[in-house]
Amino acid sequence: KLTTEQLRSALIKAAEQIEQHKDELTDLDREIGDGDHGINMSRGFQAVQKTLEEHGEYEDLGALSKEVGMTLIKTVGGASGPLYGTAFVKFAGAFKGKTEVEGAELADAFHEATEGIKSRGKSEFGQKTMVDIWTPFQEALSQEGDLKAAIDQALADTKARIATKGRASYFGEATEGVQDPGSLSSALLLGEIAEVLH
Ligand code: ADP
Ligand code: MG
Ligand code: MG
Repeated sequence: KLTTEQLRSALIKAAEQIEQHKDELTDLDREIGDGDHGINMSRGFQAVQKTLEEHGEYEDLGALSKEVGMTLIKTVGGASGPLYGTAFVKFAGAFKGKTEVEGAELADAFHEATEGIKSRGKSEFGQKTMVDIWTPFQEALSQEGDLKAAIDQALADTKARIATKGRASYFGEATEGVQDPGSLSSALLLGEIAEVLH
């Protein structure tokens, strides 16, 4: 089950995680990108944290998700900003007017968010992008599997791949064995969501 207050607290914890991993995210993006992912994500999630703390309690999960999506679109930038923004805009649609969701309804919302990322990025599972984390997470959620285990396995799997989408794809075989920065930031975010779902 996910309540408005649980999502709010997961997002604040995610912002702290992003901050702690800011340099690691940037270093990974320096290896197989342009070296700004930690900076982009830190800017975005610091803004989210500030917005959530200033706003206080939200009416429902939809209103919270909408504000987070808009904030991420405005502040993250790069390729990842619109993708994370799209995920939360999809949550906003799926969670509209709801103060708590569970089971199939919750799994469907993550399915929509994942499909939103894929359609916005013209990407699919297996290309060594954040989709490699969102897809198995959503599948584990719909099968009521172990979310933390799914994230860890997905991180290991995507690390071994060669990037075929996004900026990293220009680095070709050099991406094999290097963690995709967007996959790591997604794992941090979804890991905090998994934590509050317990
Ligand atoms: P940029 O590449 O514009 O500098 P970021 O560094 O913030 O943007 O984000 C890079 C991350 O975005 C990658 O690690 C990858 O996970 C994700 N990404 C990039 N392009 C796509 C895409 N087309 N579909 C899904 N995810 C993508
Ligand atoms: Mg980058
Ligand atoms: Mg960039």
